Parts: sequence; C-alpha cells; structure tokens
Amino acid sequence: MASLEELVTYTNQLLQIDSFKDYAPNGLQIEGGEIVDSLVAGVTASEALIDVAIEQQADAILVHHGYFWKGENPCLTGMKGRRIRKLVKHDISLLGYHLPLDAHQELGNNTQLAKLLGLLVEGVMDEQGVGNVGTLEKPCSLDVFTQRVASVLQREPLVIAAGDHPVKRIAWCSGGAQKYLQKAADMGADTYLSGEISENTVHEARELGVHYIAAGHHATERYGIQALGEHLQSKFALQYQFVDIDNPV
Ligand SMILES: [Zn+2]
Repeated sequence: MASLEELVTYTNQLLQIDSFKDYAPNGLQIEGGEIVDSLVAGVTASEALIDVAIEQQADAILVHHGYFWKGENPCLTGMKGRRIRKLVKHDISLLGYHLPLDAHQELGNNTQLAKLLGLLVEGVMDEQGVGNVGTLEKPCSLDVFTQRVASVLQREPLVIAAGDHPVKRIAWCSGGAQKYLQKAADMGADTYLSGEISENTVHEARELGVHYIAAGHHATERYGIQALGEHLQSKFALQYQFVDIDNPV
C-alpha cells in the first residue's frame, strides 16, 4: 500500500521524467483516491483496460500510452470523455509514462526487448536515450532471427529483407519508430527492428540495405510497463495485475 503522492513521486524520480521532451505529460495524468493498494497496468489506457480496472476495484492504472497527446482536441467529449468519466467516477488514478519508459536502461521497453531477444546493448539511438544499437549474442540468419522474434513476442513480424546478409549489428526501438531507420543505417546496423512500418519504409530499407522487422507496436511495448509494474508492486507491496488487451498492430 502506498499514498498516491508517494507512488507518483517515486516513479517520476525513477524514470527521471523531468529530463524528457515528450508528446504527452508523464506521471500523474488523472488524480483519484489518496491511497493506492491495487494497481492495474496495461500498454494503452483504452476503455477496455479501464473496465477491467473497475472490475478489479483498482485504485490506479499504469500505462505507456496515456492521454493528452500534443495536438489532440482537449475537450473531454465523445470517446475521450467516456474514458475519463469512468476513471473519475470510480476514483481511479491514471499514471502514464511514455518516452521515459522507452528509454529507461533497466526497466524500459528497449532494454526489455534486448533481454528477451538476446541483444547486447552498445549505445542509444537519440539524445534522449530512446532506441538502442548493439549486436546479437550469436549472429544468425534473418530467418532464424525472425522466428525468434515471432516466438518471443507471440506475433508474426512483417519482415523486409534487404539482401542476404546475416543479422549481426542491430538497432531497435519499440513502438512507432520507423522514422529511425535512416539513423539505424547511419549507426552501421545491418538490421532494424521497430513496432510499426509505413509504405515508404519498405523502399528505404531495401535501398539502405538494412533488414526491417516490424514486430508490432503493442507487442514491442508490452514489456517495459510490466517491468515497471512489477518493480512498483514489490517496492510498495501492492496488489498488482498486468492486463494484456490484445492488439494486432
Ligand atoms: Zn508506443
């Protein structure tokens, strides 16, 4: 059990939210009751996740994709109003951690992917520490690596082969980071893994000679929020549950 204030202060500090420029506020986005005994975590603060939290009588929800994104309509109407009304009505707090959770060197999405896929981290992709570059513990063919990604993330990736070279030096960035492909090439990666892919990514990967693996936005971002949730569970002796709302993208 923790006070909401204690939980938020601790997590903000742990993830060093003040050192990030982000597209959404990090930390406490919606304030519920003062005490947190039961925490539900998920990738995205969808209505389906909120419904589970209500059912479980959770005091707080912890997510990677919260609300109030730059450029969105600020009015609390329609779908957005429905989600927020449910939270407020049930006194449930919402804590969202976006880029700070991608970048965290122990709990973050990209570090968790490295652990799961057997990648050795050598450096970061941008000035905020989001994305990593490194090597495979054991270099292998693209086919073998693709099978590993599919079985670990429980989702068949969309793969653009850019030649017949093996996977040795790899860059990776969870979520919708297809725009970092050029950066991956500049860092000498022969393979780049992210969550999503765009039409132009296909041509760029082929022309850059960098294999592209679109492993799923949701699938690549399931693990940071779980690592953070488990960390908070043990730190504050919380009742805790990770809820995986299926998302094929
Ligand atoms: Zn994301």
